[in-house]
Amino acid sequence: MTSCRLVVVGNGMAGCRFVQEVLARDADRRLGITVVGDEPGGAYNRLQLSNVLAGVARVDSIELAGEQWYAAHGVTLCTGTAVVRIDRQAGRVELDDGAALPYDVLVLATGSSPVLPPVAGLLRDDGRLPPGVVAFRTLADCTAIAQLAVTAEHAVVLGAGVLGLETARGLAGHGLPVTLVQRGSRLMERQLDADASRVLTRTVRSLGVQVRPGAGVRAVRVDGRVRGVVLDDGGTLDADLLVLCCGVRPRVELARAAGLAVAVGVVVDDQLRSSNDPRIFAIGECAEHRGRTHGLVAPSWEQARVAAQVITGSGEPVSYRGLVTVTRLKAAGIELASLGDATADDEDGSGDVEVIRFSDSSRGVYQKLVVRDGRLAGAILLGDTRAVGTITQLFDRGAALPEDRSCLLMVRRNNPAAVVQSPAMLPGRATICQCNGITKAGVCAAWQDGARDVDQISARTRAMTGCGTCRGAIEGIVAWLTGADAGSSVSA
Ligand SMILES: Cc1cc2nc3c(=O)[nH]c(=O)nc-3n(C[C@H](O)[C@H](O)[C@H](O)COP(=O)(O)OP(=O)(O)OC[C@H]3O[C@@H](n4cnc5c(N)ncnc54)[C@H](O)[C@@H]3O)c2cc1C
Repeated sequence: MTSCRLVVVGNGMAGCRFVQEVLARDADRRLGITVVGDEPGGAYNRLQLSNVLAGVARVDSIELAGEQWYAAHGVTLCTGTAVVRIDRQAGRVELDDGAALPYDVLVLATGSSPVLPPVAGLLRDDGRLPPGVVAFRTLADCTAIAQLAVTAEHAVVLGAGVLGLETARGLAGHGLPVTLVQRGSRLMERQLDADASRVLTRTVRSLGVQVRPGAGVRAVRVDGRVRGVVLDDGGTLDADLLVLCCGVRPRVELARAAGLAVAVGVVVDDQLRSSNDPRIFAIGECAEHRGRTHGLVAPSWEQARVAAQVITGSGEPVSYRGLVTVTRLKAAGIELASLGDATADDEDGSGDVEVIRFSDSSRGVYQKLVVRDGRLAGAILLGDTRAVGTITQLFDRGAALPEDRSCLLMVRRNNPAAVVQSPAMLPGRATICQCNGITKAGVCAAWQDGARDVDQISARTRAMTGCGTCRGAIEGIVAWLTGADAGSSVSA
């Protein structure tokens, strides 16, 4: 029997997972849930849009929850509808179709919007982007880019962060000439140092993407539709498709207008409650926790779990403490993982930081460990990410490192140190699926419960349902478990 009206604003990665987490805890349906999403249809896996664009995932395979799913679970879903105002006094939200929804508890999961760079000619007089220009965030954007790419002769991608790289690689994979333009001197400058960026640039070029680092764009050439860009040095690039991947900004307009505490994101406490309204929560990219916003799914899903537990009051009291995040690139032909303080250097001679590097640029390999006080503070694995499970686990635990740090990067067969990387030797606490926080022990437990292949493991644990880059590691564990079942016993 419904006794509490719960309204969720935003049906993206955080909003959808939050509803699933609530349903799992609210067996006697005390909460009447309404979800309002301004995108059409049900929820989909936004992370997989890069793979859809690259042609390695189909649109129908990225659905998280279709409209029927909400109906079947007694959740009211308003799609293609935006919340335009929060009336905290009356305890209701107002929708763009004139309707109003009362709430007892309100959850904001409004995500982020793409940043539009301040470039002359980028916006038309009506404030919209000219034909041929797309800021990439949604399925509609992805579809628009894919359609434009069919007839385009040259694409320019602006911004060489993770999204820019994945987009440029995806378009180049279709045979479209692509130039990746970046104002700063490095690719993925938040995750990579200069050496890693150089190695990655070489790899990306070998995959058919032109790279122009250190090239700011000062104007967009438009003649009915986009025709190209003008660089800061006066040079020009022709383009009939321009994709903007210039970062994101939390969507906080509603919260700010309602008088909620907002810094960069909606300020929340350890229970994800607004710091100045205990009836309102914020999760995902729109939330700011302990001075930090984030742009990845793992913290969004962890916040969804914590908020669901707090709101349903089920189980142990929980707090969100922040999460270590690993950035991985989903681009065919590029293996890349970066975590922690990966750009730190030892060149100031202070001795505070120890850096272990291995580089083989002809093979596109660059690996780096940053060590502080004998513990791992950051890492880059480019071109060979086989050590990522062990490295992440050492980082998570703050464990003391072996004296010979380099053995952590050596995953060659015939190397005695390599044994640490095999599924058998990987500790049970090693995180295998970063998006969902699934450990090796979790995968083994699913196996012991009867899951016998990667899809069954995924259905049981949710592993691989985010970015999907853990598939290879899970296949490795499944192969090991299969062999061990046939032979000796398995222990996580
Ligand atoms: C192409 C692409 C690839 C990515 N790859 C990765 C990756 O590999 N790994 C990773 O960790 N992260 C990745 N990300 C980032 C990841 O998608 C986000 O971190 C995640 O989606 C955040 O979830 P969220 O729910 O906070 O925001 P979103 O998923 O953006 O959901 C917010 C939803 O709220 C809706 N909304 C906003 N305001 C209103 C309103 N007023 N009324 C109604 N609805 C509203 C929005 O339209 C949207 O549907 C990727 C992002 C993109 C675009």
